[in-house]
Amino acid sequence: MAELSLQHLDKIYDNKVQAVFDFNMDVKDGELIVLVGPSGCGKSTTLRMVAGLEDISRGKLLLDGRDITKKPAKDRDMAMVFQNYALYGHMTIYENMAFSLTLRKEDKNVIHKKVMAAAEILDLTSQLNKKPSQLSGGQRQRVAMGRSIVRSPKVFLFDEPLSNLDAKLRGATRREILLLHKRLKATMLYVTHDQTEALTLADRIVCMSMGHVQQIGTPMELYDRPVNQFVAGFIGLPPMNFFDVRVQDGTLRGNGFEVPMTEEDKAILAGYEGAEIVLGVRPEDMEEGGDLPIEVFSNENLGMNTLIHGHVGNHVSITSKLRGWKDYRDGDIVRVRLNRKHFFDKQTTDAIHGEGV
Ligand code: ADP
Repeated sequence: MAELSLQHLDKIYDNKVQAVFDFNMDVKDGELIVLVGPSGCGKSTTLRMVAGLEDISRGKLLLDGRDITKKPAKDRDMAMVFQNYALYGHMTIYENMAFSLTLRKEDKNVIHKKVMAAAEILDLTSQLNKKPSQLSGGQRQRVAMGRSIVRSPKVFLFDEPLSNLDAKLRGATRREILLLHKRLKATMLYVTHDQTEALTLADRIVCMSMGHVQQIGTPMELYDRPVNQFVAGFIGLPPMNFFDVRVQDGTLRGNGFEVPMTEEDKAILAGYEGAEIVLGVRPEDMEEGGDLPIEVFSNENLGMNTLIHGHVGNHVSITSKLRGWKDYRDGDIVRVRLNRKHFFDKQTTDAIHGEGV
């Protein structure tokens, strides 16, 4: 069992920089939580406070109900996997994986059993006599994970573990982490700046910006019902399009373009007649055959889909992801329909969901 409770955590560094504000969350046993956000938003600081590598300035940290706020890192029963692997170059893979247990003076037979079991899970059995330099980046990352597994920690912490790998290996290693999570059923906290990793790995995502938690929820919740413009723009690739529009007489009036409102839109925006709001539309939520004319300036074929970059109205940028292989030329007009719209309050940037809608 490993339940974590992060209660109102603040981190203020010695130079008075506050890196984390009021981080508040309960992590269930066996959950894989991904902390995501742009560089500098406080993800690693949060992870390091959980690991005990940084002091907690204010707030409490509980593990299975016990207060561990002030416990030294080595007594927390957690294992951290770093992006640079931190393997010992002069030791074999076996020795690297056994190292923490050897330090603890565990029985040799017990160590052997644990190392062999971890190597089996990670498909490293044939590599155990090699040195780290003889392994690929992906294999080294697996050794780093193996070193954690042998300790059977209560909680696994991952700090951008895939960022040193090339795109293809990242995909493969991501799937291995997911498999590992399924097999071990362990509680995991995982930090990344990559929204794809967050969407594909997480049971729940914590999206952060400038030290503040913006939203906590399942990948589907963050994608489908982002609480504000920041989350809407960060989750999803290519990012959501945003347009300044005025709500007027059943129409959203932008700069030189208009979008008709559906009955549902009208219900959601009931209190906004005459107001300026932000309309958000994901590139993939558009299809050909509507009334909104896009003037194309680039056409990128991705195989199953085509990315169209262009303008609507008075030179307002728009990106659209259309199904199929398209061959639009510069200056062509594509008329699209918007299948799903998101609305944001212009002042607060909060999503507008409407009363009871
Ligand atoms: P992330 O992991 O999201 O990229 P970090 O948690 O590393 O962000 O950093 C959050 C903020 O805290 C940044 O503004 C960073 O400059 C600052 N910071 C990180 N470590 C220290 C430190 N040791 N001393 C002072 N400020 C720090």
